[in-house]
Amino acid sequence: MTQDFMPEEVSVFPIPAFTDNYIWCLHNASHAVVVDPGDAQPVMAFLKQHSLSLAAILITHHHHDHTGGIARLVSANPNVPVIGPRGNHIRGITKSVSQGDTVHLPVLSLTFSVIETPGHTLDHIAFYGHGALFCGDTLFSAGCGRLFEGSPEQMLHSLNKFKRLPDDTIVYCTHEYTQANVAFAKAVEPDNAELQAYSDWADAQRNNDNPTLPTDIKTQKAINPFLRSHLSGIQESLASHWGKSPVNDVDAFAGVRRWKDEF
Ligand code: ZN
Ligand code: FE
Repeated sequence: MTQDFMPEEVSVFPIPAFTDNYIWCLHNASHAVVVDPGDAQPVMAFLKQHSLSLAAILITHHHHDHTGGIARLVSANPNVPVIGPRGNHIRGITKSVSQGDTVHLPVLSLTFSVIETPGHTLDHIAFYGHGALFCGDTLFSAGCGRLFEGSPEQMLHSLNKFKRLPDDTIVYCTHEYTQANVAFAKAVEPDNAELQAYSDWADAQRNNDNPTLPTDIKTQKAINPFLRSHLSGIQESLASHWGKSPVNDVDAFAGVRRWKDEF
């Protein structure tokens, strides 16, 4: 896959919401697109502060902390397209998309392709283009979403789609869970030197009130135990934690996920 990068005039800004959500806002000097607006208020404040008009809303999955702001944003910006998963279960969606569909955002000269990523929820999708991945709650830095609806096999398959993207793909995750995830990752891979260095960096970012996101695929392949559960080091760690070796890659992934749930 070739990377064509984000147009120079487009910035991507994390609008903080609730306690640990980021609502990613892609914007140029006049127009904005937001991803997963769980709350309308901080989005409206950001748009107002920067004199931006809302051009579209992208939705990755049905959870309220990703969709709760749709109604108010649409009532303040009538006719704004709301693009998200098919199924008619999310109120306010005006355009349903599925695997391989293309999302055009002409005001920002952006085009994303839709990647279906069931696991955290069954409806979960991600938006990929211009070297950027908006992955919702499927992938976090050093972690992945909890399996509320999907199976370990589905989630592993979804994460493997991300692993096949170019290493320099910038990954815009929707929660600041990094430090807790890193603490777990270090328990799984105590000898991972890159993980230790990343841990120090993440602590410094948080101590200075900076986000640890976005991240990139290369970093995640080096530090994220959920992208590394096929490796022998992690499989040995799983065997000593659970008292039995994983029988295959799905079993290993499921073992890491279950270990994190109990961590
Ligand atoms: Zn969620
Ligand atoms: Fe969430």
